[in-house]
Amino acid sequence: MMRDSIYILPLGEIEWEILEEVKKEITAVFQFPVKVLPNLSNPAYAFEPKRGQYYSTKILKELISKLPDDGVKILGITEVDLCTPVLTFVFGEAHLEGCAAVISLARLHQEYYDLPSNKPLLLNRAVKEAIHELGHTFGLVHCRDNQCVMSFSPNCLGIDQKQVGFCSVCQGILARRLSLPRPPAEKSGETSLQGDGPIARCRRTFLLFFLTDGGFVKPRQKPIAASSRKGVQWNES
Ligand SMILES: [Zn+2]
Ligand SMILES: [Zn+2]
Repeated sequence: MMRDSIYILPLGEIEWEILEEVKKEITAVFQFPVKVLPNLSNPAYAFEPKRGQYYSTKILKELISKLPDDGVKILGITEVDLCTPVLTFVFGEAHLEGCAAVISLARLHQEYYDLPSNKPLLLNRAVKEAIHELGHTFGLVHCRDNQCVMSFSPNCLGIDQKQVGFCSVCQGILARRLSLPRPPAEKSGETSLQGDGPIARCRRTFLLFFLTDGGFVKPRQKPIAASSRKGVQWNES
């Protein structure tokens, strides 16, 4: 079977308007048919009681198993707050050149920061994060151009600063990956990526690299015995 669709899998209840907007923008950017799967419940299997958050890497593993036969990528969208063992939170995580990506809407809501609700801003942030994480699955890494959607965003300010679109370099790389005609690029001389499109690559990326966005490195939970590490203080959180 031809794998030619990008799937969106809502994990928990996700507003219809958000799913529609993300679907529309992903379709435009990646040029694949995009389908929304029936929603599953919140990813309880990834819950970490000590932190009251959910481990994003566990969700990615689960997402791979949910990829339909005609799927080339799967994007999980959840309202629960995500983290990794070392990061305080993540907006999303993806397998570099893999099939799965996940984003969390939890910290994209203005209400999270005790600010008035702002639906257009929420939609805009969700679209950027969805494109960013899917961009990783197409092999794009973090971009130094802070206007580019592939730039790393440590917080919402960073997300709001960047555009929905790619810079010309990232766009050029993506176009090659998607085997679309390249847009006029300002720079040339990138490594050739031909001959192994995203579809062929899917499901045989065994060496997985994970890329996360957002968050800060978490202080260590357990301080080393004071006697052995004199003068070092750990912030308990
Ligand atoms: Zn870029
Ligand atoms: Zn990223």
